[in-house]
Amino acid sequence: MAIERTLSIIKPDATKRNLTGKINAKFEEAGLRIVAQKRIQLTLAQAQKFYEVHKDRPFFGELTEFMISEPVVVQVLEGEGAIAKNREVMGATNPANAAEGTIRKDFALSVGENSVHGSDAPETAAVEIAYFFSGLELVG
Ligand code: ADP
Ligand code: MG
Repeated sequence: MAIERTLSIIKPDATKRNLTGKINAKFEEAGLRIVAQKRIQLTLAQAQKFYEVHKDRPFFGELTEFMISEPVVVQVLEGEGAIAKNREVMGATNPANAAEGTIRKDFALSVGENSVHGSDAPETAAVEIAYFFSGLELVG
């Protein structure tokens, strides 16, 4: 399988509870390398643009308000099949359905406040990485 990069976000419920290091340990234990990382405070416009694909969903307002409620940590994870591997490490969207040992099973509070975002396909990974990082920030 090819080496891939994927965009990850440690969400406000997790940064607020000081879980950045514990979540990063899960990525590293799974063989994902954190090749770029920064802690930022999103604006509402930035959160709305990032989640544009969900703009007609009933939870869009709740989601975007949540994403600006505290700082987030945006990061690029790299590794063999990193996009799918990260989705595995994250666990199901709703923590009630997440497998044992996954980030969402261990840390998420609810289907909305679910601790992490991860790109879902190569195309979205490329767009999402470019949304937060310049080429010069990706040193591999
Ligand atoms: P994922 O983050 O697993 O890719 P989605 O892309 O379907 O999930 O949804 C994006 C985010 O929107 C979720 O991670 C979660 O924070 C929020 N969300 C999804 N479904 C709901 C819901 N039913 N109620 C509230 N928030 C939701
Ligand atoms: Mg998604």
